[in-house]
Amino acid sequence: MSISKRLHYKSDQIEVTYDPKICIHAAECVKGLPQVFNPNKKPWVDPNSAEADEIAAVIHKCPTGALRYNRLDGGANEPVPSSTRIVAVKNGPIYVTGNIKITGSDGNPLDAAPRVALCRCGHSGNKPFCDNTHKEINFDAE
Ligand code: SF4
Repeated sequence: MSISKRLHYKSDQIEVTYDPKICIHAAECVKGLPQVFNPNKKPWVDPNSAEADEIAAVIHKCPTGALRYNRLDGGANEPVPSSTRIVAVKNGPIYVTGNIKITGSDGNPLDAAPRVALCRCGHSGNKPFCDNTHKEINFDAE
């Protein structure tokens, strides 16, 4: 199980960070702001192509927490949800939002995040995170 080193993309207004190891390509980012999040371009994130508020709003929809941000313009950073929400996705992972702290099996803290996608099929190669293996094994669950 691992969290990779985050990649950073900066404008004067906002720093976007991205962890490719926990992205499962749900594509909320690409659908939400294609001029900012374009996998066909290098770098694939261009934080200069939209206002920081718009970018932040789209990042809040990233279900895995692969995308996060730090505001550099004095705007509000992502609020930590005051309650925890757990949603089992049909044939897919468990989406969790809240004040989430991930601890490794050795007891060491791995990450703290407002959004994560956790493995539900039991076959992820990156547990406890979803890595899309549920698609390969045709995981079937309501
Ligand atoms: S919304 Fe998050 S999980 Fe989905 S493709 Fe974008 S970065 Fe990856």
